[in-house]
Amino acid sequence: MNARPLANAAPVSAESPEQASAKAIEIATSATTAEASNPTPVNLFNFSLPGMEQYFSGLGEKPFRARQVLKWIYHHGITDFNEMTNLSAKLRDQLNANAVLRPPTVINEHTSADGTVKWLMGLEGGNAVETVFIPEAKRGTLCVSSQVGCSLNCSFCSTGAQGFNRNLSTAEIIGQVWLAAQALGHERHGGQRITNVVMMGMGEPLLNFDAVIPALQLMREDLAFGLANRRVTVSTAGLVPKIAELREAVDVALAVSLHAPFDELRNELVPLNKKYPIDVLMKACADYVRGRNKRHITFEYTMLDGVNDQPEHARKLVKMLRRLPSKLNLIPFNPFPGTKYNTSPWDRIEEFQRIMQHSGIITTVRKTRGDDIDAACGQLVGQFMDRTRRSQRIKMQQERSST
Ligand code: SAH
Repeated sequence: MNARPLANAAPVSAESPEQASAKAIEIATSATTAEASNPTPVNLFNFSLPGMEQYFSGLGEKPFRARQVLKWIYHHGITDFNEMTNLSAKLRDQLNANAVLRPPTVINEHTSADGTVKWLMGLEGGNAVETVFIPEAKRGTLCVSSQVGCSLNCSFCSTGAQGFNRNLSTAEIIGQVWLAAQALGHERHGGQRITNVVMMGMGEPLLNFDAVIPALQLMREDLAFGLANRRVTVSTAGLVPKIAELREAVDVALAVSLHAPFDELRNELVPLNKKYPIDVLMKACADYVRGRNKRHITFEYTMLDGVNDQPEHARKLVKMLRRLPSKLNLIPFNPFPGTKYNTSPWDRIEEFQRIMQHSGIITTVRKTRGDDIDAACGQLVGQFMDRTRRSQRIKMQQERSST
């Protein structure tokens, strides 16, 4: 699979909602010259409700315009301002002149024999990320990426092995959900709906906090995807300070990639542990669920043959997880070329699960889905066409000179 350069990819900056709103206000105050002086349109996929209201008030419009536009985008799948018939002609003209609704581009789509769908989503600047839809009997889970690559370098993860390229914008994150929702509307997928979103694709979502939060708000927002709080999950390798900030910013479920019950081993598997060791992380988890009814933390634990899959690891985990409302999800390791790890044998995974269950910790084993299309955990690699700022600059110059 090769990412091809994106045709017609006009530059849309990966600006924060605040920057974009500030720009909108700037545009509005110089309304008469707006068309001439605003070369970079604002991508409205970057705004959750507050950002969108701020944008429209910047245009001198009433806040209800934000609600109308959100409904067009997310309920009706409309991205052409001319089709937003309850907006005035003047406002539609203004939006055409100053704004765009530009999600990523679908470079390709693969459907697995088991119904799992994987998209390669093209981003501005020649990057791409992967998004996966996993249909089950009673739910449809979309696995969304938050960064191109990842800086955390977990030793068993293929995304980590590729290094970090850049953060995704809110538009690029929510755009994955929007595009998947559009694609799944297609008959071929049996009308499967997205009922759950997990931020478990490429990247560490809490290291891209400012762009991830509005995207999570849109997943939860009734005017957009309207998913319930426990149906949106942020998965983190354990960025402790941001766990507390997440709790304040938006009401979503938390999953923590634990992978080891001892610091020495976890330092090796998840180097972030050197900064935020297990006891500090567990305290942050306890604080996250405190005072919230029927909430639990899901701990993810990738089963690595002979590394973290022994009964002693399970017994220590029991002691740790008993202290807070928690569930454990065992993930059979998905090998990738060049890795030094192997998948734990089934009987060992079952024994591990048995020890946990016996001690009252709800423990599931993640089924590997979409194996034939490389859609499993840790196999989402996307494509890197370009890594250095310098060559990006050259590329942009080339694009400019060829237009
Ligand atoms: N940065 C986030 C999201 C990462 S991906 C986090 O760390 O939680 C989601 C899960 O897949 C994480 O638990 C991650 O550790 C796990 N994972 C990564 N590579 C894997 C592999 N090769 N096999 C199995 N699980 C893997």
